[in-house]
Amino acid sequence: MSALRQLYQEMIIDHGKRPRNFGTLPDATHHKEGFNPLCGDRLTIYVSEKNNVVEKICFEGSGCAISVASASLMTEVLQGKTRAEVEAIFDDFHELVTKGHNVVLEDRLGKLAVLAGVAEFPARVKCAILAWHTLKAAMADDAGTVSTE
Ligand code: ZN
Repeated sequence: MSALRQLYQEMIIDHGKRPRNFGTLPDATHHKEGFNPLCGDRLTIYVSEKNNVVEKICFEGSGCAISVASASLMTEVLQGKTRAEVEAIFDDFHELVTKGHNVVLEDRLGKLAVLAGVAEFPARVKCAILAWHTLKAAMADDAGTVSTE
């Protein structure tokens, strides 16, 4: 395994075991529950948005290391971003985890690039994207629970 791959794997394990911004957000302006029935991942995303800027994102729930690590990294990366920036990052991230390694996208996505390897495992793509779809639905104030199926 290359050194970079190993570093990526260690970051996923670290975020999976010690997720950042884990818990509820009492002053959330949006929240949503998402479920990935294929794996059993169930996460609730809380967003506090002000003047079209994401001030804070938290999440809670339980899931596999990939789903938790992806949610944890997402909460770190999207904090302070505008709605337009969140949408652009969502699109980049979605393309990376569905299509695989891409130097331009990985450069733009920074630490989110650690999840590029999931593209090789189609069943895990839904784990990696769950928090993101849930966030998108939360910010759109969609009704009901998000399901990846
Ligand atoms: Zn999973």
